[in-house]
Amino acid sequence: MTKIRTLTPRLANQIAAGEVVERPASVAKELLENALDAGATRVDIEVEQGGVKLIRVRDNGSGLAADDLPLALSRHATSKIYQLDDLEAVTSLGFRGEALASISSVSKLLMSSSEDGEEAWQARTQGADMVPELSPTAHPQGTTVEVRDLFFNTPARRKFLRTEKTEFGRIDDTFKRVALANFGTNFTLRHNGKTIHSLRSGEDQLSMERRIAELCGRAFMEDAIHVNVAASGLKLWGWLAKPTFSRSQADLQYFFVNGRAIRDRVVSHAVRQAYRDVLFHGRHPAFVLYLELDPSTVDVNVHPTKHEVRFRDQRLVHDFLFRTLHRVIAELKPSDSLPGAVDTS
Ligand code: ADP
Ligand code: MG
Repeated sequence: MTKIRTLTPRLANQIAAGEVVERPASVAKELLENALDAGATRVDIEVEQGGVKLIRVRDNGSGLAADDLPLALSRHATSKIYQLDDLEAVTSLGFRGEALASISSVSKLLMSSSEDGEEAWQARTQGADMVPELSPTAHPQGTTVEVRDLFFNTPARRKFLRTEKTEFGRIDDTFKRVALANFGTNFTLRHNGKTIHSLRSGEDQLSMERRIAELCGRAFMEDAIHVNVAASGLKLWGWLAKPTFSRSQADLQYFFVNGRAIRDRVVSHAVRQAYRDVLFHGRHPAFVLYLELDPSTVDVNVHPTKHEVRFRDQRLVHDFLFRTLHRVIAELKPSDSLPGAVDTS
């Protein structure tokens, strides 16, 4: 008998799940991104008990045919890239083809879908069996993915989850990041039967500002400066708070690169530098900013959760961000930029 054995697909998926599915919010993120990749204009998410008991995401996107449903749940199966070259130009949010397989290996998953609103199928995976059970069902055009009892079969992972309130807070934050990146989509978020957010689509400035006020607070929006600057192939637009609206935590900082919410050292550094002279030590700026650049100059394939990116020309991006924001801040009236400044005139 040999010592070396191939992992069963289930075990391989559970190991991969460790990277992709850290907590309920990671499930929410993957399901929301799939709905958007499917071209949905309406996405509803329903959560129970901080997402541990239930996360259900329903969309009106393209839907899946019966043959594709089991494939969607298997590892390294994706409709988004077919060859390595495609990776260079990837614009969809997902592309690794491992999210659903990972999620299904650590939960009880039900995926229902219809391409035309007439014929609909559902695939269920549960417990030890990785081969989905396929059966006919009723479903309007689009897809619903229901994830129940997250980590029910990996108790060690379940132990790491925090309180219901904390886990829901992370889902809420994930929801905000997705909603702020997709103004053209209607969204609702419900928790334990209560509507937390209900957002109408609209891509004109007024609609966008209404959504930001709803998600980031009226106080932020009322005090925010609108920016829209393009130079050397880069474009930065969005809203930043005047330094008078600083925060004790870095909790109102949303940065998107080509429609994807990211956290990045280069970006953080540029923003911090731009605010350096106008914020007191320990205070944090607030912003919702969108950077757009040629997708082939930014690598999103750095980490499975895709929070990170790698810019081909880091210096160019850094200097563009710093200069743009610094100029906007420098142009403010002194009373807007010096928190609690003594008026000596
Ligand atoms: P990826 O998004 O990286 O391709 P996933 O495991 O998240 O991998 O999804 C696998 C495949 O299942 C997707 O490529 C897509 O074809 C299909 N799929 C998943 N969710 C949806 C959805 N909500 N609507 C339509 N198709 C979906
Ligand atoms: Mg995906």
